[in-house]
Amino acid sequence: MRFEIVTIFPGFFAGIFENGIVRRALAEGLVEVGVHDLREFTHDRHRTVDDRPFGGGEGMVLKPEPLAEALASLDIAPKPRPAGVARERVILLSAQGRPFTQAVARELAGLERVVLLCGRYEGVDERINQLYCDEELSIGDYVLSGGELAAAVVVDATMRLIPGVLGNQASGAFESFGAADGEIEADVEGVPRSQHGAGGLLDYPHYTRPAVFGGLAAPEVLLNGDHQQIRRWRRQQQLRKTLANRPDLLEKAALSDEDRRLLEAIGQEGCEGF
Ligand code: SAM
Repeated sequence: MRFEIVTIFPGFFAGIFENGIVRRALAEGLVEVGVHDLREFTHDRHRTVDDRPFGGGEGMVLKPEPLAEALASLDIAPKPRPAGVARERVILLSAQGRPFTQAVARELAGLERVVLLCGRYEGVDERINQLYCDEELSIGDYVLSGGELAAAVVVDATMRLIPGVLGNQASGAFESFGAADGEIEADVEGVPRSQHGAGGLLDYPHYTRPAVFGGLAAPEVLLNGDHQQIRRWRRQQQLRKTLANRPDLLEKAALSDEDRRLLEAIGQEGCEGF
């Protein structure tokens, strides 16, 4: 899989992909990232990428011509694109976009190429969106000063879902927002879908040595080696945390009868402490 990032600040990405899982995935050739300097596609002395907005108002707008040239250099034609390139997507990072979620990351991880256009100033001339972009993605309900951080978030979250990138193929499914029932095709490593650690819920809390830290002991259940009890405890913690912090997720989560019983019990005792 390849990501292409078009930006006026290529230097922003210099160190960002040089750590941890992302660095390893790049080094092993599982993923490629191309960073393209928008100013390379200007033709004036000042390498101008922006202009004043029609209709007046504050700020500047990224001009369409350099962006169109940058896209042409990546063999991206205006829409509708020829058949056979369906496994690529051109995305405009934008506060006005569709929310970027783990489900969207899973969608992108199935593509061959993802092109990310980073806006700056007041944004990008809308005709670039209309002519070239398959969608706008937002990483949250706040306004960043540029699309670079958003692009890095999209690359990071998507990349770790590509087969082989995480050491343990299953671990992505066991994290917060892991696929809800129906989103995963098959059982993961023999664990039935209904028992996936995440199943659309938030992750459970994690502990490591020492067993006591800052006067707090790690939960006894995690030390006793009873895997059935550990699984049940973790699921209970997931339900508690999701109920406390993100009750909206419970509506779409894959809940078993046991989950519903646990939720009822949590509801009765209250979910303070989270
Ligand atoms: N005028 C725009 C608005 O009110 O929606 C904000 C422009 S912002 C200052 C500049 C650029 O940052 C945008 O063109 C976009 O590429 C990026 N950006 C800002 N917030 C974002 C978000 N929440 N998600 C993704 N990209 C964002």
